Amino acid sequence: MSALTVRAYAKINLYLDVVGKRPNGYHELITLMQSVSLYDTLTVERTRKEGVALETGGVLPADDSNLICRAARAYFARSGQPFGVAVTLDKQIPMQAGMGGGSADAAAMLRALNTLDGERFTTEELYEIGATIGADVPFCVVGGTCLCRGIGERMEAIENTLGGVLVTAIAGEGVSTPAAFGELDRRYNDFKEAHGDAVPTALITALRAGDPVTAATGFYNMFEEVIEPIRPMVGELKAVLRRHGAIAAMMSGSGPSVWGLFPDVATAEAAKQALVDMGARAFVCHTCKGI
Ligand code: C5P
Repeated sequence: MSALTVRAYAKINLYLDVVGKRPNGYHELITLMQSVSLYDTLTVERTRKEGVALETGGVLPADDSNLICRAARAYFARSGQPFGVAVTLDKQIPMQAGMGGGSADAAAMLRALNTLDGERFTTEELYEIGATIGADVPFCVVGGTCLCRGIGERMEAIENTLGGVLVTAIAGEGVSTPAAFGELDRRYNDFKEAHGDAVPTALITALRAGDPVTAATGFYNMFEEVIEPIRPMVGELKAVLRRHGAIAAMMSGSGPSVWGLFPDVATAEAAKQALVDMGARAFVCHTCKGI
């Protein structure tokens, strides 16, 4: 095979608690990550010329800082047998949004390279390469619903039969992930005074049972309390989601994107329209396997 097209699915966090800080500055998390059917598309083609030629249509830098290029570097460092690739990225996932768009692109790039390379590596090995690129990349290699611990690299697949329809939305200025962790650091210092460090078992049981009402009482995101004051739009978007029938409305990751869980497509579409009318980017989507 010399060319292929792969999807890079966004994620939302159904639960996100920061429970500690490592000496290297990274934070220990307990988080439930969920792939959603909003995706970037990467077309990856083998070329004669060595290196990675990336075309992003100008929506983001196509230089070595791009996670797609970093993924290629990490992949070829591990394989020891680099080859040239031309990559075209169609970006749909909002950036600096807390939806894991960069990590999803990196994971999709690893999977595409592995296919072009005759399936050299197992999923487990791609996951290890992913962990060297970014904390959320291993999850994006696997996808679906996962309970992630450590800095995100200790993962366990969770059964989620919740169904329903999601609306994700974002408006205004993005949030950089390190800056968002910085806000939490100022509030919690070493996180010893923060919440417990318990796995959200009631939420996991509700996901398995497909019980949205109980699940809605268990969704949580620690970043909300520090991001909502500096990005008031987060609270406004959540209020619109709720007014239009969301069973639950939450911020995703370090923000400022939000998501709402809806009982059916018609209600979700009406909520999306209300969000678009107020100037937000909004998408109707659903939970998915993510690969
Ligand atoms: O790993 P990734 O590059 O996605 O993380 C971006 C930044 O977010 C890191 O440089 C770090 O500042 C912060 N981070 C963290 N703890 C995590 C994940 C990310 O402090 N578990």
